[in-house]
Amino acid sequence: NTETNQEWLQNYVDDWVSFYRKHTADGEVASYIPILQEANRDHLGITIIGNDGMRVSSGDVEVPFTIQSISKVFSFIIACMERGVSYILDRVDVEPTGEAFNSIMHLEMQQLKKPFNPLINAGAITVTSMLPGKTSDEKLKPLFDLMEKIIGYRPALNVDIYESERDSSMRNRAIGYYLLETGFLESDMNITLETYFKQCSIEVTLDDLAKMGMILANDGEDPNTLEEIIPRQVARLAKALMLTCGMYDASGKFAAYVGIPAKSGVSGGIIALSPPRVRDEELPFINGCGIGVYGPALDDKGNSIAGIRLLRHIASQWDLSIF
Ligand code: GLU
Repeated sequence: NTETNQEWLQNYVDDWVSFYRKHTADGEVASYIPILQEANRDHLGITIIGNDGMRVSSGDVEVPFTIQSISKVFSFIIACMERGVSYILDRVDVEPTGEAFNSIMHLEMQQLKKPFNPLINAGAITVTSMLPGKTSDEKLKPLFDLMEKIIGYRPALNVDIYESERDSSMRNRAIGYYLLETGFLESDMNITLETYFKQCSIEVTLDDLAKMGMILANDGEDPNTLEEIIPRQVARLAKALMLTCGMYDASGKFAAYVGIPAKSGVSGGIIALSPPRVRDEELPFINGCGIGVYGPALDDKGNSIAGIRLLRHIASQWDLSIF
């Protein structure tokens, strides 16, 4: 039954988290936004919420952190919901780059064509410029509304991180100017960047990420109420992007070795999910789940170093790969 199963899974996950916590020593906390350096590099936590109500949570699960690049998935979703999928895809491609998230190089290679994908900064900033509204608050309202609907409370901005990010944003401003020059921005550049920095500074917990992952796992539907939170087509697009472009320039390896849609952020958060499956053999341990991982010590690609290893272990033990 679910309860014994849950206890059993909990024991396993506790062991794995304490084992992989040692791996945090192999990584570094992000420092290009000064205040992110204040995170505790030893932290590691995970929350898994299953379709059947199973909830396993272990490690540093109470520590709030900023959503950072994970927000790109949801601003893309909102842009598609507000402007229509074809409008957005006419202006941003869905092709992985193999370059760093804030790379400028590929922009010029792509001259006069569209940014490669909505999960790298150039594409994400373009998507943010397409959100309806004149001010950053107007643009972000539907994003906050969607998050509130899923996580059950209205998330807040971490103002210190927002200011730190804004004040150390030379690279993103360079991207912004480039997009302005090439005619991709649909809103004022400063408002667009302000909106982008704010969306990255939304504070979340592991529980929130797991809930958001669970909605995506179910193609946008809440498995408990059967309410459509995100249109199916949009949820599937978002998952395809997560799988191909979600883990920076290590997305191919993550797809190969872990095999589930995921998106990470420089604060050390990862959202991941495993869709429910109907199979002839024995049912998987968890049949459909959303996963939140937090571990601010990052590898050289910018992904949580212990978080990735923990996810890889769990995905293989529980046979989560979508392949
Ligand atoms: N705020 C970050 C930036 O654009 C987001 C980066 C990330 O999480 O990858 O620099």
